Amino acid sequence: LLSVESVNKRFGDFTALKDVDLQVAEGEVVVILGASGSGKSTLCRCINRLESIDSGRVVFDGRELPQEGTELARLRADVGMVFQSFNLFAHKTVLENVTLGPIRVRRTPKAQAVEEARALLNRVGVGQKESAHPAELSGGQQQRVAIARSLAMHPKLMLFDEPTSALDPEMIREVLDVMVGLAKDGMTMVAVTHEMGFARQAADRVVFMDAGQIVETGPPEEFFTRPRTERARDFLSTIL
Ligand code: ATP
Ligand code: MG
Repeated sequence: LLSVESVNKRFGDFTALKDVDLQVAEGEVVVILGASGSGKSTLCRCINRLESIDSGRVVFDGRELPQEGTELARLRADVGMVFQSFNLFAHKTVLENVTLGPIRVRRTPKAQAVEEARALLNRVGVGQKESAHPAELSGGQQQRVAIARSLAMHPKLMLFDEPTSALDPEMIREVLDVMVGLAKDGMTMVAVTHEMGFARQAADRVVFMDAGQIVETGPPEEFFTRPRTERARDFLSTIL
């Protein structure tokens, strides 16, 4: 579904991504790990073209990503992204947050969008909050609404960039549970997270980044028990 090929990304003379190759098959769940500054967010941003790339290519769903234009709009609609900050529309209700994209971008009839949004909000456990505004919700609830909003667009791929790192500990579980459920339902996912429990439970593959490069990739049980590189061993010793 997704193929990142020899991607390089520089900020001035700083190389943020160096010859990054990553293939993600349909239905696969890939967790990206790595120390702060290793390029995890930059990679996510290059995948959905929030960031341009200097060389290499990104092929999504059979098509190479363009730098701009209508193809890019299609891509954005097909790739859901959930960040650390929830980015909900503050002046809209929970329900409106979830129906806006389908109505405006997918041209879904309003009644159908509302019906789908309610089903999604129930699925992520915030169905009873549909009339609330984001500020009235807990961080965990806001993040689950953000996930529902992404899912409402029927994405082919979901990108998560540290979706739980701004949350209080007791709210992390409820968001991770939603992500685990999505993974079990067969959603293709690329997730940057420091939640090793999630990586062990849901990931088909772990990708470890260091200094803008992918230095190791493999099944989670292998990576956590037998990391092959010094870098990965160092990283694991700091977090486990
Ligand atoms: P963290 O775990 O802290 O989120 P990360 O692995 O996501 O780290 P990135 O945000 O991808 O790291 O950043 C990788 C490197 O690129 C960092 O050294 C960062 O300073 C640099 N960088 C990222 N975005 C920019 C930018 N817009 N301009 C200049 N440098 C940037
Ligand atoms: Mg980051």
